[in-house]
Amino acid sequence: MPATSAPSAESPLRVLLVEDNAADAELVLQELERDGFEVCADVAQNGDELRQRLATGAYDIVLADYKLPDCRGMEALQLIRDKNQHTPLILVTGSLGDVMAVECIKQGATDYVLKDHLPRLQVAVRRALYESELQQLRKQSEEKLAKKVEELARSNRELEQFAYVASHDLQEPLRMVANYTQLLADRYQGKLDGNADKYVHYAVEGATRMQTLIRDLLAYSRVGRQGLRRTNVDCNSVVEEALRNLQSAIAESAAVVQCGKLPELQADRLQLVQLFQNLIGNAIKFRGPEPPVISISARQKEESWVFSVEDNGIGIAPEHSETIFVIFQRLHTRQEYPGNGIGLAICKKIIEQHGGKIWLKSESGNGSTFQFSLPISHLTGVSERHEG
Ligand code: ADP
Repeated sequence: MPATSAPSAESPLRVLLVEDNAADAELVLQELERDGFEVCADVAQNGDELRQRLATGAYDIVLADYKLPDCRGMEALQLIRDKNQHTPLILVTGSLGDVMAVECIKQGATDYVLKDHLPRLQVAVRRALYESELQQLRKQSEEKLAKKVEELARSNRELEQFAYVASHDLQEPLRMVANYTQLLADRYQGKLDGNADKYVHYAVEGATRMQTLIRDLLAYSRVGRQGLRRTNVDCNSVVEEALRNLQSAIAESAAVVQCGKLPELQADRLQLVQLFQNLIGNAIKFRGPEPPVISISARQKEESWVFSVEDNGIGIAPEHSETIFVIFQRLHTRQEYPGNGIGLAICKKIIEQHGGKIWLKSESGNGSTFQFSLPISHLTGVSERHEG
């Protein structure tokens, strides 16, 4: 395909002149040269020559009469556009009514100049070249961006694969270390000196902690690893299941959970149960002095459902509203509240895989409201399995 780019100061302007009248062709070329263009032109006088030139030449601009003997206007225009998608094309023609002019522009002509207004040609050519260069630059930056997005997606996939394999394969040797340090502790407690007891205790604690972290990392890597299993999901029954799973925590804390009418969605049911369970579980865990009161609701906003899970717990300062969703990020010590900082990272991953977003509306001491959106139509980029 002919190359297109605006001519540099040194290189001549490569013009394809589609014109069957030699005198008119000469006038057009003279006009360009008079305006300071150094021109290198090929002329096509009929449809066959036009096809041939388009197949072999590379042009910065095409200047075409609307009428050729064996090739009617639109046909020639279409031929030029098909072969030279990005080359600017200016019609230089004897007469062209308004309706036809609009139609030509619609079909891909950049501009048109009437032959008895040839001095306008240089303005039209310069503008067309400038616009063409802008278009090229835009195209190049779009291509670069698309490449970067693809690279990022690939490196994310590799990273996820790495986290999965590492956490999966580390489990076995770690189990060995944990079991044997525990055995050491059981067998030799009090039989060695005081320091040895302390060291073995630290080793057992470290190994147990590492097991928990690796198990959590594996749980995180597994979310959506097999693709989403979307079915019609009634979110009310999802919340009921999450509450059943949290039965003992609810009873022990005397929590009250109020749930409004929730919608039915095309979603991965298991993931939604995990999502609600994590959010309600946190609302119970991070409670204040009063028994937890948790309200769950949903409202439709544009193309999404926006869910809210609101509690009356200890709240979260606004400056932490982003970091809490990062894996292993916590705001408290394990002595204050148990946990590893995996729950909200999993919630975020689940929601993003469904094409939604999660955010926090909270003020320290005033309870927390977690909100998340799930699109009503489920066309996302994540690979999916459809069932039911
Ligand atoms: P974990 O619960 O294991 O600490 P999460 O990822 O679920 O991990 O939560 C990260 C942090 O966000 C928690 O350590 C806590 O500080 C804060 N947080 C989460 N949910 C709430 C909540 N409902 N109220 C107050 N703080 C919360």
